[in-house]
Amino acid sequence: MSEPEAILPPDYHTHTHLCKHAEGEPADYFREALARGIPEIAATDHCPTPDDFDLPHRMELNDFGTYRGWVEDVQRSENGERQLLGVEADFYPGAERFLSEWLPTHPFDIVLGSVHYVDSWSFPKSSFEGASGIAEIWAKYFHVIGKLADSGLYDVVAHLDLPKRSGDRLPSDQTRECVLPALDRIAHAGMAIELNTSGVRHPAGEFYPSQEILSWASERAIPITFGSDSHQPSHVGSGFAEALEWARGAGYEQAVKFRNRQKTFYPLP
Ligand code: ZN
Ligand code: FE
Ligand code: FE
Ligand code: ZN
Repeated sequence: MSEPEAILPPDYHTHTHLCKHAEGEPADYFREALARGIPEIAATDHCPTPDDFDLPHRMELNDFGTYRGWVEDVQRSENGERQLLGVEADFYPGAERFLSEWLPTHPFDIVLGSVHYVDSWSFPKSSFEGASGIAEIWAKYFHVIGKLADSGLYDVVAHLDLPKRSGDRLPSDQTRECVLPALDRIAHAGMAIELNTSGVRHPAGEFYPSQEILSWASERAIPITFGSDSHQPSHVGSGFAEALEWARGAGYEQAVKFRNRQKTFYPLP
């Protein structure tokens, strides 16, 4: 029997309850993906760290075996070739030493790179006290994104314009000044960026990144993936039909799939 042609892209950003702020296990997300016509799904829970970096929001290092076991159970089940093993790993001082040694010891298909904290600012929250302005945060954040790209440790930059999470925006000319150098470094590194639909559930009220930033990425031929950033199984693939339109509107005609951290292009469905 031949497979029906996919009408939605793979969902390469999902979490589990091991990170202490999400629900469900990979099997639950996988079931939702199959039911919603999502052709592939990656488990990308918040990566453990050997230090005490952001421990309340990620799995313990000791839990990683459980996580990998869950994913491998799904991979052995019916349609299991549609399940990928991934992580969402923060880039922070100290991450490089650990990740460069630890990532190669597991059979990852995809590694998302994220910046959730810059100095004392955290993007899950909305308070930027101590900053002289939104511009200062955006400039520092995208400088760190550039370093993330230079590190060569990650496959995809997650939620690229996360500082807008709280709804704050910069004027277009200032956005360009912050973002373009980071995009150039992402392109140079051969990395992809993610069209992350979770922003519509945040005060930002739109996908990450903005369509303007996405069009700058398209001009640089930076590949894209799609991610719901689901923290509960019912969010798998949410907003994906609209996200496809966003991608097309920004000039994209194709996106990438990952296996064993290698990318292959596919035409947008
Ligand atoms: Zn999370
Ligand atoms: Fe994240
Ligand atoms: Fe996430
Ligand atoms: Zn995320």
